[in-house]
Formats: sequence, structure tokens, C-alpha cells
Amino acid sequence: MSNNVLLRVRGLKKWFPIRRSPIDIIKGRPQLYLKAVDGVDFDIASREIFCLAGESGCGKTTTGRLVLKLIEPTEGEIVFDGEDVTKLEGELLRNFRKKAQIIFQDPYEALNPQMNIMDIITEPLLIHGVVHSKDEKIEYAIKALEDVALKPAEDFLYRFPHELSGGQRQRVAIARAIVLKPKFIVADEPVSMLDMSIRAEILNLMLNIREKYNLAYLFITHDLAVAKHICDRIAIMYLGKIVETGKAEQVIDNPLHPYTKALISAIPVPDPRSKIGDIPIKGEVPSPVNVPSGCRFHPRCPYAFGRCREVEPKLVEAEPGHLVACHLF
Ligand code: SF4
Repeated sequence: MSNNVLLRVRGLKKWFPIRRSPIDIIKGRPQLYLKAVDGVDFDIASREIFCLAGESGCGKTTTGRLVLKLIEPTEGEIVFDGEDVTKLEGELLRNFRKKAQIIFQDPYEALNPQMNIMDIITEPLLIHGVVHSKDEKIEYAIKALEDVALKPAEDFLYRFPHELSGGQRQRVAIARAIVLKPKFIVADEPVSMLDMSIRAEILNLMLNIREKYNLAYLFITHDLAVAKHICDRIAIMYLGKIVETGKAEQVIDNPLHPYTKALISAIPVPDPRSKIGDIPIKGEVPSPVNVPSGCRFHPRCPYAFGRCREVEPKLVEAEPGHLVACHLF
């Protein structure tokens, strides 16, 4: 990764307290926490596409919301463009929101069905006082629609979300995210609800926009095939922690952690007889309220041995730029 760090995250935690019943309180039972994010470190450089990948419930979406200050961390450091995000308030927070945007998984849920496309796209401009007249709104909306290849842009201005296809709606969501010319976008499963036929189009659009506007993305996905297509680096999360990280080709072509190997074995391949990376894992993901001792993957790991149940492995560099948290390394 280049030294040009845009986002730096250290020791990030988000523990949600579990509501206690009156009986729990009377009996003095301890407060329990759902440890959604449990000590995560990563950097994202300017213009980099950094992927957080893992199964549902691993903490990747919570991490995305934390770095945008949509929720407050329990602990940890988030520094964006030299500023401590956790301490931003008032005008400084408004400025941060201009520079850091989000694209949600479900474009239909994300777009107000009662607003036309021009109003949806230009709403952030109005909130931040960037436009003041209808002519300015039209100008900005047309430019943003052209950026996301919805052409002729004039044909879309006065349409409503229900009149568009899923792919067109996600293009509108991307147009809304880029209209303020941010430096950074959290893209939370941006293609998982789209037909296979248009996923590649949207991913390529996001790559083109990165080139045009020098954007960095935190790209959240459960799909490692998608991650390999678009990301520069990948971090694999399991039960609130990063267990492996490296360049996309390092993690996908030479996975080291047994969990990463299992995820990769689940990627469909053209040859059904292929056994590459075929690592079976046992059982379900444990509850993040009762995180297993030692290596949190040990109840499911086919290679677990005594130390794995007692000592939590740290991320160590197995090869330059490729880190893994596993006692086998
Ligand atoms: Fe498996 Fe042990 Fe490595 Fe954890 S530390 S992934 S249990 S071998």
C-alpha cells in the first residue's frame, strides 16, 4: 500500500449491550455484550479499493458505519484525512460528510420513492448549501447522471425510483454518492441485490468513477469473486476480527487462513470437479455474544489443536504485505 493513507483505523471496537431483564439485574448477572467489531486495524490509501469480506454477521457492515460516524465506537481510533473522526462535531462533522459518502445494498430502500431522480441526486447539495437555484440543480443532476451513464440524462430527471430497473436505481444511488465529489465511499454490498447480468456493469462503473474522481472505497461484500474483481486489497473478517489481509491476488490465489480457504472453496468454478481450496468447515458461526476462547475460529477449524483453544492468534506477516492470524504461521 502507498504511504498516502486516507483512512487509518486502530483498535476499533463496537460492543452492543444486551438488554438485561429485571431478573438478571436482581440476580446480579453480568452485563453481556454483542461484540460486533472486536479490535480491528486497517489503513486505506487515497484511490485504493479496500475490501472487507466475510459471512453475514462478521462485523463488516458495522465497521463501515463506524468509519462514517453513523454509529459511535465503543473504543478505537478512526483518522480520516488527518482528522480524528470520533471527535468530529458541528461544522467539522458536516465537512467530513461531504468527503465521505455511502452506497447501500438495496437501491430501492435507499431512494425516497416520493422524490424524483433530480431531487434525490441533488438533496446532498441542498443540505450542504452547494446549490441555490433550480438551474444549478439541473446542471449538477445532469452531470451526475452522465457520470453514471444514465443517458440521455434529461430523460431521467423527472422520473421516480419505481420507474427504473434495479441497475438504474443503483446508478442513481451512486450518482447521489458522488455528487459532492467525496474522497471516500463506503460501498455496502452494492451489487448483491442486482441480477448477475448487470453486476459487472456496476462494478466497472465504480472502477471508472474511482479513476475519474480519485476516490477510495471501503467495499463490503460476502462475495470473494466480486472482491477479486474490484479490490486492491482484501481483509477477511470473522466474528468481529480481521483474520487475514493482503493484496487481492495474495488472499484469493494463495489463501492462508483456514477460514479464507473455506470461503474460497465456496466460490463457484467452471469445472465442478475442481478441488482447489476445498476446505470443509464444521457447524455454524458462533454467537458474537459468546465468542469462543483462544482462536475464535477453533470450534469450526479442521486444523485446530490444543493451543488454538487457549491463545488468540495475532495477525503476523506471512509474506510481504500478507498477514494472517493463525497459529499455523
Ligand atoms: Fe485453526 Fe488454530 Fe489456525 Fe485458528 S489458530 S485457524 S483454530 S489452526
